[in-house]
Amino acid sequence: MAASLNSTRSSFETPCGAYGQFKITRYLLRVTRDSRYGDSMERVLYNTIAGAKPILADGTTFYYSDYNSDNGKKVYYKDKWPCCSGTFPQLTADYGISAYYPSADGIYVNLFIPSRVSWSQNKTQYTLTQQTSYPTSNTTELLFDSARAENFTVYLRIPAWADAKTGVSINGKRVEAEVVPGKFLALSRTWKAGDRVQFEIGMPLRLEAIDEQNANTVAMVRGPVALFAVGDIPAKLNRSQLLSATAAAHSSQDWVVGGDARSLILRPFAAVGDEPYRLYHRLEG
Ligand SMILES: [Zn+2]
Repeated sequence: MAASLNSTRSSFETPCGAYGQFKITRYLLRVTRDSRYGDSMERVLYNTIAGAKPILADGTTFYYSDYNSDNGKKVYYKDKWPCCSGTFPQLTADYGISAYYPSADGIYVNLFIPSRVSWSQNKTQYTLTQQTSYPTSNTTELLFDSARAENFTVYLRIPAWADAKTGVSINGKRVEAEVVPGKFLALSRTWKAGDRVQFEIGMPLRLEAIDEQNANTVAMVRGPVALFAVGDIPAKLNRSQLLSATAAAHSSQDWVVGGDARSLILRPFAAVGDEPYRLYHRLEG
């Protein structure tokens, strides 16, 4: 993996790779109810396909993501209408259908996206509306509506990376149950129209090594989102420098290391345009 950072610019076949990953994780999640597959799905959603350049009218298509250490760049593929021009639109349906999983005893909330789902619980029709600007914000809100009240369980995915600031409130009252990262949290009660779940997800900054053999070749990650360095990237970086990053102005999704004109800017893949970037950094020491 680490060697590929110098040897290729065809790092990840983005629409087809993401489509395949979504398909596999959707079935695995349905069968196992293991929240790790949901964690994996959202990582691929935010860090690959959500940052793909749009398909153009003549079939010009984004194909490979470039993670080369010598400045990556978003470019279009040489051929018109390749495989990735078909899987890209399929994915735009997939992340919606993978957001919720109704089950006999309730509903699983897997993805935190602005959305609405309707399903039948004990023969009562329920609608759940989710409002959020996740993953830019670290909160989401679920609002329930139904003609009658029924007893069932809402399973909320607690990402494995979530820290101690994570918590759930129902109608403004903090849930006492232990919140375990890497599991679904079961919220069992009689759900009625107007019930509101507020979910705050503690989203720490962390550094992830590209593989076990290269512990000092790392990407910066916040919650589910990888942060790509852009602009004047210093030749030398260390762990504490990167982890000292703070959120930039409220209107941007950028993170900043150092507060002056020579600051290092870190940006989600979806917010990267035509500027060169670097995903993996070789740290000193
Ligand atoms: Zn393809």
